[in-house]
Amino acid sequence: MVKSRLSFKFAGCLVSSLILNLLFIINIYVGGQWNLSWSSRAAAEAEAVAATSCSGHGRAYLDGLVVDGNTEPVCECNACYTGPDCSQYIPHCMANADGGDPLFLEPFWLQHAASSALVVAGWHRMSYSFDGSTYISKELERLIRKVHALVGNAVTENRFIIFGTGSTQVLSAAAYALSLENSSSPAGVVASVPYYALYKEQAEYFSSEKFKFQGDANAWKNKSDTSTNMIEVVTSPNNPDGRLNKVILQGPNVKTIYDRAYYWPHFTPITAPADEDLMVFTLSKLSGHAGSRFGWAVVKDENVYNRMTIHMQLSSMGVSRDSQLRAFKLLKAALEGEGRELFDFAYQTMKTRWERLTRTLSLSKRFSVQKINPQYCTFYNKFREFSPAYAWLKCEREEDKDCYAVLKEAKIIARQGNRFGSEDRYVRLSLVRSQDDFDILIKRLNKLVSEEDGAKIM
Ligand code: PMP
Repeated sequence: MVKSRLSFKFAGCLVSSLILNLLFIINIYVGGQWNLSWSSRAAAEAEAVAATSCSGHGRAYLDGLVVDGNTEPVCECNACYTGPDCSQYIPHCMANADGGDPLFLEPFWLQHAASSALVVAGWHRMSYSFDGSTYISKELERLIRKVHALVGNAVTENRFIIFGTGSTQVLSAAAYALSLENSSSPAGVVASVPYYALYKEQAEYFSSEKFKFQGDANAWKNKSDTSTNMIEVVTSPNNPDGRLNKVILQGPNVKTIYDRAYYWPHFTPITAPADEDLMVFTLSKLSGHAGSRFGWAVVKDENVYNRMTIHMQLSSMGVSRDSQLRAFKLLKAALEGEGRELFDFAYQTMKTRWERLTRTLSLSKRFSVQKINPQYCTFYNKFREFSPAYAWLKCEREEDKDCYAVLKEAKIIARQGNRFGSEDRYVRLSLVRSQDDFDILIKRLNKLVSEEDGAKIM
């Protein structure tokens, strides 16, 4: 009797709580629209910052500096622009073609402001882990698999996926995971010249007993000493020259990390789905969000995956949940509709930039850039040219041994060839930066080329 009275009371409470909730929902969902409560202030704040006019040559951010006595963030101007609203051009400034900041994608996200914006509640995922066990958002993992399937650039079925704070952390986790336990000598880390400097810098900085940078992979090709354990990093497409590099070293003692940061239609024909044992990707070059520090690896072997997971646990307890949320939202926005818009935008932008650069340099005898034959692209179903992230520029004149100095004289900041294990007759020019940076680069190059003996003036 008591029991049935109690359950009756409980049912009564449940019904009234349901009615209250329903009334609450009806109250805030009026006429097919949410009547926003706590999030409206955040939305208004975000839109107010976004509306700050920086003349198209800069941007204001919610967490940007504020001027004394003012609460509004100031404009952060692109290189060569200054003033409170970035409207003043600095005529003789240096063109910055250093660094791989992928701001060429910023216009895409401005066009997709609504689908990519986020409101993050103060209580969003405060825990160290998702559901007490993992550091990885399963939904984000699902989106990553979906984006690879759509582009056809990597096989992810029956593969493990691991997240890192940028591919920078993923690469160090991979080096630790592939080096042998209990080995008396360190594994040699190699990459073919010209290589991305980070592999060398990381190996040297961590100065681990497990691995040691050993320079150019080509120099190890015909070495008779096959007992040394080697880890070859194959960057494909390569930074700095955009080529689809292939593995150089093979054998039972060789392990390979494929750095696939640039294997997106933005930069290269997609020739086939990559199906290597350990492939590294990054949001930085896919969506352009280098600042979110999000990268991932696709891994075949469970043991390697487990060892990489331990590395992530010990170095940072996984990737910031806030970054994962951001990556999730951005990929979801990118995959809307047929999911091709981001790729079309990125490819068109990089193609146009490459054409402008090569047109400018076609008039030159003093400078040359890499030439890569077109290949069939399975994403666009056609033969297409490469549209690389960087120009690997060579100073052809005998006396121009220091190409960096030649360009600096012409007010262009490039990156020296020696940073890539190469000669200083080469420099790398970044083509992925903001439109302002690229336009100024082309302007300076045009001037430099037009001053060559016998060159036609454009
Ligand atoms: N690999 C390559 C080849 C790169 O060029 C870069 C960035 N320039 C990275 C990895 C690191 O990128 P992130 O840490 O932003 O993912």
